[in-house]
Amino acid sequence: MRNKVIAGNWKMNKDVFETADLINGLKKSVAAKNVEVIVCPPFTSLVVAQQLLKGSTIKLGAQDVSVHDDGAYTGEVSVTMLKSVGCEYVIVGHSERRQYFHESNELINQKAKKVLAASMRVIICVGETLEEREKEITDKVITAQIKGVLAGLSESDLERVIIAYEPVWAIGTGKNATPRQAEDVHQLIRKLVGQIYSWNVAEKIIIQYGGSVKPENAKELLSQDDIDGALVGGACLKPDSFAGIISPI
Ligand code: PEP
Repeated sequence: MRNKVIAGNWKMNKDVFETADLINGLKKSVAAKNVEVIVCPPFTSLVVAQQLLKGSTIKLGAQDVSVHDDGAYTGEVSVTMLKSVGCEYVIVGHSERRQYFHESNELINQKAKKVLAASMRVIICVGETLEEREKEITDKVITAQIKGVLAGLSESDLERVIIAYEPVWAIGTGKNATPRQAEDVHQLIRKLVGQIYSWNVAEKIIIQYGGSVKPENAKELLSQDDIDGALVGGACLKPDSFAGIISPI
């Protein structure tokens, strides 16, 4: 039995003052029972979030990480830096990073390895574009992404890996995948993990769905057998809507 994992990706939203308001609101409204709840604010808000989350069950994550350890990489943030501000999770390979910053499966794989080497947990995102879905090559695209992002990771690494299936056409569009569409891809991902590793690993791995998840559609999506949680964008920016996704679980 896999526990649900709900992560909020704040993207480039909330300054430190707004961060304090949102974290305080979440602490009041989010009651996590058998659910792992993670918030991923921007880098500039991590310290204040860490301070305010002390004593809370809500975990802290980052939205990205450098592949480099330290040195002359202007603008980059290392895994050690993230660890030092209390991050337990890092999202890698979000479709916005793939699209706007040209991140490849290979780079995402390197980032995932950095996170895992630092004994942290990684949320690795995959997902097809609308064009790819319409060309009916979703399975092919997801298969290539999964093989690429997991290359060289061991069975024990997989204990700290979450895969987020995020169809690009559903992100920030208000148009979520139907529970059936999402479940089909989740089953494919679990099957691929089973083929690459073992059925034991496949049964345990957490596979989140992301793409316009909100309180109105979360229950049905999360009731699918292979949907083990959600990666939430827009709806995680207000305590009530984030809590509205978590509370019914
Ligand atoms: C996301 O950014 O990962 C996401 C799923 O966004 P939204 O929930 O707004 O579609």
